[in-house]
Amino acid sequence: MIIWGTTNLKSTVGTGIFNCPQCQSEAPYTLKKATQFFTLYFIPLIPLGSQGQFVECNQCKGTFTEEILNYDPEEEERATQAAVFRILVAFMVKFHKTGEHHVAACQRAYSRLLDTEVPTEIVERELELAMKPDSIPENYIASEGNTFATEAKLQILASARNIILAEDVDNEHVQNLVGEFAMMLNLPEDDFEQIYEVVTEIANAQM
Ligand SMILES: [Zn+2]
Repeated sequence: MIIWGTTNLKSTVGTGIFNCPQCQSEAPYTLKKATQFFTLYFIPLIPLGSQGQFVECNQCKGTFTEEILNYDPEEEERATQAAVFRILVAFMVKFHKTGEHHVAACQRAYSRLLDTEVPTEIVERELELAMKPDSIPENYIASEGNTFATEAKLQILASARNIILAEDVDNEHVQNLVGEFAMMLNLPEDDFEQIYEVVTEIANAQM
């Protein structure tokens, strides 16, 4: 009886240092290539083609696609900060909360949320851009907002609540606006009462 089959052999293509999402730190990696071989009596004989390259973390042994080598957590953090900021600005324009007190509340919320300061000029410039006739803040909120996890959305809603509260308004008004904003962020309408309770708690902690 002739025993034949196929097997994958892995060879090292390169090494380096990368940001391992599993270790959540920099770690050495090995870039490997898997090649499928035709085997006869379990001996690899004929290469059947490359099965692709992958990155293996030498520390946790996790494997990732090659794109991981372009992953930069600092860059991602900056992009998140910018997106959160733009959503808050879009919210302010959409709900006409663009007064001096609102701007100050936005700055406060931003620094609580992201642990970094944003100058008044930048908030005002962004507001101006978002108020241009061809800008549609609700579209921005709907498209960008969807990229955030629920927890992040709740944080954004809490910031929005504190921005609304920068002026004297009644509770019903606050709740209505937060509700409308929650819907734009695609949070389940049925759970809004519960959501609003959580948002209020987070908002009070943010003050
Ligand atoms: Zn790792």
